[in-house]
Amino acid sequence: MILLLLIAPSIAGFSNASSYWEGFPHIYNCSGSGISNEMLEKSLEFWNSNGMHHYDLKKDENCSDEISMTGGIYIVGDSDILKYDEHARSRVYFDDATGEIMYSHIFIKKEYQKNFKILTHELGHSFGLSHVFDTNDIMFFNAEISELNVTTN
Ligand SMILES: [Zn+2]
Repeated sequence: MILLLLIAPSIAGFSNASSYWEGFPHIYNCSGSGISNEMLEKSLEFWNSNGMHHYDLKKDENCSDEISMTGGIYIVGDSDILKYDEHARSRVYFDDATGEIMYSHIFIKKEYQKNFKILTHELGHSFGLSHVFDTNDIMFFNAEISELNVTTN
């Protein structure tokens, strides 16, 4: 337990941080993602006001292959990797030893691509946050019934 605490990276103010960005990530909205730049900007404003900063948002990025999707947070959109009962998923690639995030991919099913809370929740994962058991927090495991807050300490 103590060892885990020693090697676990932390983001100031967040007890549910499981990995972190060394600098600020670039955000890429892939062309054809189905996620509007306007909604994405609103979601990034939410995170920015809660201490999760990013460099910039690149709109209409060509995300044709996984190799090109490194060095930032990529909003991909719908994908075959999503299971039938899964609304969305974030894949966060990080260094096991340090917890430093290298890049992240966000997948959201077509029918949930206009859902602000689901996008915001997935961005939380991509910034390095894991789930919490508090429905008042956007990182509650079911974002649809959570509130649009984050709990900092
Ligand atoms: Zn989640």
